[in-house]
Amino acid sequence: PESITVQELANRMAARQGEVIKALMKMGVMATVTQTIDADTAELVVEEFGHRVRRVAESDVEIGIEGVEDKEEDLRSRPPVVTVMGHVDHGKTSLLDALRTTDVATGEAGGITQHIGAYQVTLASGAKITFIDTPGHEAFTAMRARGASMTDVVVLVVAADDGVMPQTAEAIKHAKAANAPIIVAINKIDKPGANPDRVRQDLLSHEIVVESMGGDVQDVEVSALKKTNLDKLEEAILLQAEILDLKANPDRPAEGAVIEGRLDRGRGAVSTVLVQKGTLRKGDIVVAGAEWGRVRALVDDRNRQLSEALPSTPVEVLGIGGVPEAGSSFVVVENENRAREISEFRQRKIKEHTAAGQTAARGTLDQMLA
Ligand code: GDP
Ligand code: MG
Repeated sequence: PESITVQELANRMAARQGEVIKALMKMGVMATVTQTIDADTAELVVEEFGHRVRRVAESDVEIGIEGVEDKEEDLRSRPPVVTVMGHVDHGKTSLLDALRTTDVATGEAGGITQHIGAYQVTLASGAKITFIDTPGHEAFTAMRARGASMTDVVVLVVAADDGVMPQTAEAIKHAKAANAPIIVAINKIDKPGANPDRVRQDLLSHEIVVESMGGDVQDVEVSALKKTNLDKLEEAILLQAEILDLKANPDRPAEGAVIEGRLDRGRGAVSTVLVQKGTLRKGDIVVAGAEWGRVRALVDDRNRQLSEALPSTPVEVLGIGGVPEAGSSFVVVENENRAREISEFRQRKIKEHTAAGQTAARGTLDQMLA
């Protein structure tokens, strides 16, 4: 079973070792800083300090930093976050490009868009949908490994002229493992050889039963090329979102996930993050992965400066000291000291991991998502 030294526990909470020892004494546990305590005891101490415990994996107890549990009455609906998956060349990129043009603000004249790894469309009805389109998509794998997720709905693209292929099957496995409902987009229906019924039939052997065959998985025939039925696909996503009853509390310090990060010649370290809870604001102090900084600017996918970003909003963050790992979490903390401590703790953990020689077979997943 899990265990942790008193020293490490104090580090993780950014608390004084003496305070931790005192808390243990109150619970009748006598321990020195180098001594090991079991996870259950650690959990009690952590709660005593007003933190939240997340057991990320059997071997790893990560201490939640902010300790805010949202009350039901503070929750508001938020837009769905969608990931598009499917076999290579079945039209993921084309579909994401086509869906992007359905944004009312983009329109025909076209706002200048930039690639930030995710975008949000606002439909004529006012409803919003967030699409994650990171080509490499390490974030998806990394988050899955942590037992976290940034996807509410998976749109599974299957080319009607090609049918279910190996990476389609793999995508289905990933969606199921992530517990994300699937919507099937049967693409390329404009092609002469298109056979949507065969796709539906093929999917049966992967336990995907579409509605027309008596199941509960929505399917939509589309053409990314001709922009056919994109509205139907969006309706299906919104219907699924309604069923999921997606909510978040906007009135709290922000938390979320890093979609991608890079070094920009002009702007320094730039991270695209997905806000999952709370509202992210300019001036906030953020820890992202093992990096931290004060938010200098928030920029959306149309290069507009924002003063704040609500739940389900993807946004570029400027002001973080380095490039955080894709798929890591970010959180707003109350002061710079706290940020520095958490960042140092995470840097240490990364070193330990690297020392352990982790390798990920992400080739096929990358292809599937690109
Ligand atoms: P990805 O590998 O899944 O991202 O697939 P792409 O979006 O790059 O598309 C692969 C090829 O299929 C490209 O040549 C696209 O132009 C083509 N394609 C994508 N969607 C459609 C479609 O709806 N109809 C037709 N005819 N071709 C499409
Ligand atoms: Mg692609």
